[in-house]
Amino acid sequence: MELNLSPILNYDGKKMHICEAVSLSALPGDRFEIISPVNFDGYAQNIGGTIEICGSSSAELKLTCDRCMDEFSTHIDFSVNEKYRKHDDISDTEENPDITPFSGTSLNFDEILYSNLYMNLPSKFLCKDDCKGLCPVCGQNLNIKECDCTTETTDPRFDILDKLL
Ligand SMILES: [Zn+2]
Ligand SMILES: [Zn+2]
Repeated sequence: MELNLSPILNYDGKKMHICEAVSLSALPGDRFEIISPVNFDGYAQNIGGTIEICGSSSAELKLTCDRCMDEFSTHIDFSVNEKYRKHDDISDTEENPDITPFSGTSLNFDEILYSNLYMNLPSKFLCKDDCKGLCPVCGQNLNIKECDCTTETTDPRFDILDKLL
């Protein structure tokens, strides 16, 4: 969706409340799917010509576990804090990496939510903290069933023993 900034764009200090549920899709090549609308509750405020967008977001994702390759869904919460300023208002002397220039009277809110969601993804996708993963020998999902070929590699204490012997 486009976030229309007209109500605040030319009014220093003015704030508008934003409460939206935005339908977003992951991009081709993403390792996740977005299976719920992305909720946003927050505001946009004009602070001396800089538009600040602040709020909290949440979504449901479908991921593939990095260890056992099973699909699972998870809830993600993240905060959004972005600053924008009209192209024309940015002088060469005040380049600020935290402020994104824009033109027109609206912002692409989908992009803002997507990039913030993306930045807040966990570094590893695990179906549960103690996921046992797949047996490297036979491929058995060890969360479901133990197999017979795992005894040598599973216990780190034996690795230490191996090194000593
Ligand atoms: Zn797993
Ligand atoms: Zn096995």
